[in-house]
Amino acid sequence: MHKKIAVLPGDGIGPEVMAEALRVLQAVAHEFGHYFEFAQGLVGGAAYDATGEHFPAVTVELCRSSDAILFGSVGGPVAEASQDKWRNCEANSVLALRKTFSFNANIRPVRVYESLREMCPLRSEVIGDGIDIVFVRELIGDIYFGEHKRFVENGLRCATDVAEYNEEQVASVARQAFALAQVRRKKVTSVDKANVLSTSKLWREVVTEVAAEFPEIELEHMLVDNCAMQIIKKPTQFDVIVTANLFGDILSDAAAILPGSLGLLPSAGLNAEGFGYYEPSGGSAPDIMGQGIANPIAQILSAAMMLKTSFGLVREAMAIEQAVEKTLVDGFRTADIYNDNGRKVTTREMADAVIARLRA
Ligand code: NAD
Repeated sequence: MHKKIAVLPGDGIGPEVMAEALRVLQAVAHEFGHYFEFAQGLVGGAAYDATGEHFPAVTVELCRSSDAILFGSVGGPVAEASQDKWRNCEANSVLALRKTFSFNANIRPVRVYESLREMCPLRSEVIGDGIDIVFVRELIGDIYFGEHKRFVENGLRCATDVAEYNEEQVASVARQAFALAQVRRKKVTSVDKANVLSTSKLWREVVTEVAAEFPEIELEHMLVDNCAMQIIKKPTQFDVIVTANLFGDILSDAAAILPGSLGLLPSAGLNAEGFGYYEPSGGSAPDIMGQGIANPIAQILSAAMMLKTSFGLVREAMAIEQAVEKTLVDGFRTADIYNDNGRKVTTREMADAVIARLRA
């Protein structure tokens, strides 16, 4: 198979972990007889330096002409956020990318690896046989995209933010969630606030209708406040969680702490046509950039998600996932997941270990 991949490393640790993910992809291509063409593009502060824009037209075109987008991360040190180069860098890059390609679903798997269970802040009996949840968050609707208003009424400062959804937006993301559940444990939990919000009542109605297209999937509805508690109390009950933009933002970030490091968490953004971009859930980590100690696993697993979701290369993706798992079982640890046992390794050594297990 020949695929063209738009490779946008970005800033901070982005280029460091991207280099390792590309080496892993090369190893997969070699093992399974594929050809992946890496088309490098600039985004974020790196693009600003070269063009004065965070997401220049040439990068947009590169993405448009590719089969999928592999994204690193963008942004500079928070303390330098007022500099032109870094001001609104994330919004101008990531949000612009999402908007340009109408990426309406954000997919975030959260997994607690058996070999890293001591990194999880939850008690061992709560982790049970392991936590393995996929969040599907609607990405381009809801209160973030409705009208935002400030005004004065009766001498008081007031503000409103309008939450809005139409049935197509809900149905599209629901279908993506059910499709994902089909290749997992066949359960979807739809999270809303249908006891109060009109948008949530519509959400629940439409998700229930879409469920009829997937009779083999179990659907449950859960109120968002209860879900927040259940993620901490009994996370093993969840398979796929589908929810609106605002709820998904908060719940998926709360769950992101469970594996123990942002450096382990991949993610994807998909549009209704199945085009996708893949990136680590974390940011550019300026506090550790340039030291060769960033964890490359989130970027490597993002590449695996790309193979599976955009290219249908399920065996190849599984080979990467299993190699990562074996690497962790064998005790390789970058600084973020090191706690006195195991072997402390650099970004490159971690990727070397994954590649060695991929080839074994
Ligand atoms: P961050 O995710 O970059 O870092 C938070 C903490 O997690 C840091 O201590 C960092 O060292 C650690 N971390 C993150 N990824 C890691 C990895 N792979 N290996 C080891 N440790 C890792 O969040 P922040 O510090 O709040 O933001 C830094 C910059 O990143 C900001 O400019 C922000 O706007 C940007 N950002 C970008 C994206 C994106 O590109 N999608 C997402 C979030 C934040």
